This record gives sequence, C-alpha cells and structure tokens, in this order.
Amino acid sequence: QSQIQQIANTLAIACALDRRNQWLAANQQRNYEEQSNFLASLLHQLRNPLTAIRTFAQLLSRRIVADDPNQKFVTGILRETQHIQDLLSEADRPAPLLLSEAEHEKALLPAATMELTEIDLSEILDGITNFASAIAQERNIQFLSNIPSHLPKVLGNESALREAIGNLAENALKYTPKGGYVLLGADVKPDTVYIYVQDTGVGIPDADLPRLFERNFRGRQAESEIAGTGLGLAIANELVQKMEGSIHVISQVGKGSTFAVTLKRSL
Ligand code: ADP
Repeated sequence: QSQIQQIANTLAIACALDRRNQWLAANQQRNYEEQSNFLASLLHQLRNPLTAIRTFAQLLSRRIVADDPNQKFVTGILRETQHIQDLLSEADRPAPLLLSEAEHEKALLPAATMELTEIDLSEILDGITNFASAIAQERNIQFLSNIPSHLPKVLGNESALREAIGNLAENALKYTPKGGYVLLGADVKPDTVYIYVQDTGVGIPDADLPRLFERNFRGRQAESEIAGTGLGLAIANELVQKMEGSIHVISQVGKGSTFAVTLKRSL
C-alpha cells in the first residue's frame, strides 16, 4: 500500500514539474516573440528616414563639383547610410522565421495603447511630400500633391502617422515603374479626414487583397521582382488602428493602386 502511495506521490510531483516547465517554456516563447516583433517593427521604422537621408545626400552630391572640399562629407554620408541599410537588411532576415503561422494575427507593436492628441496634418504631409518628391525625382516618377491649404486637426499620434503614410508613399514609389506618377492627397469630410496615396504602379491582384495587411505577406509579383519584407503595410495598419482610424485599398492590376487612411477630426 505504502509503496503504491509512494509511486503515486512521485508521479504527481513529476506531473506538476512537467506542467510547470511547460508553462515556463510557453511564457518564455511568448516574451521572445513579442520582443522580436517589436524589434522588427522598430528596425523597419528606421528605413524611411534613412532613405530620405540617402536621397538628400545623392542630390547634394550632384550639385557639388569634384574638387569641392565638402565632397568628402557627402561621400561619407552616402557610405554610412549604405552601411546602416546593409545592417538593417541583415536584421530583417531572421524576423519571419521567428513567427509561427499562428503568430500572424498577433499584435506587431507592444500592446500599450497609443497616446492620441490633436495633430497638425499639414506639417506631416509636407514632410512626406519633401522626401517622397526627392525619391520620385531619383526614380523618374512624377510626384503630385492634392492637399487643401487648410486642413482641420485630426486625432492621432505624430510619429505613428508619419510612419504609416510614409510607408504607403514608399510603397507607391517602389511599385510604380519609371514614367508613372504618385499622388498624395487629402479630402476633408464632416467628421473625418481622408488621406490617400494613389499610384500608376503594378497594381494588386484580387487574390492578394485579403492578406495584404498581414505581417510578412508579400504579393507574388513583389516577391519575385521587388525587394521588401512584407512588414510595411502590417505596421501601417496596426498604427492606424491604434489611432482609431481605418485603412483601405482599391487596386487594378496593371493600372495602379490607391491606399487611403481615414482619421477622426478632433473636436
Ligand atoms: P513589402 O513592400 O516589403 O513587400 P508591404 O507590407 O509594404 O511589404 O506590402 C505588402 C505587399 O503589398 C507587397 O509585397 C506588394 O505585393 C503589395 N503592395 C503594397 N503596396 C503596393 C502598391 N502601392 N502597389 C502594388 N502593390 C503593393
């Protein structure tokens, strides 16, 4: 009797230990994935300002004559930005491998709610126009803007909005061939402001639309022809959700796409 009791006790302890280990492993895995998601998003957000710096440096470099003593500074900026871009593409690589299929639906950014304030849309759209028109010039694409001179304040977060719209503009420029155009515009509605980025790019097949905002999703055409990570739209979508806004796309293969963000006007 007592031997059976002993075996039963040992088994109970073994089971409890096993459950505890399973719980610890699951927790560790979750923390690890949350951290790697956050890190991947952060690294991705470094891309837009970096592309802008490199484009400004390229434009500057062309204006400087060969024996100008300032040439070396511009060359230095170009070299260092290239270096950071190389590091970032290294850092991007393992991120998708860390995520299981089930993790796709998980939040990309830390769960904390975003602080929403009244923000000046004009200033943000001016900043995006500035870097996007420089990139467009580099790539022989026309950059147009259709932004009303007086825009009401919206509810949002400045850096999140810059990142979200910046990603849409970057994509539009990336997926539009030479000779096309990209248009950044805004429309004021009674309760909302509608911001859109329209392009004359490759377009998106209907079959890709439902998965477009998923993390790591890349269109079939994009996957084979144009470099990317499949993070930009997922991040943009997540940020816009946190600003209590919405994001939509209409697209036609071979004709182009329009991505639009709707934000609440602040009262
Ligand atoms: P990435 O551009 O790095 O692949 P994104 O998350 O920004 O990742 O975009 C996901 C996919 O959506 C892209 O792979 C591409 O197929 C498609 N896409 C996004 N923006 C555009 C656009 N403006 N025109 C055509 N396809 C687009």
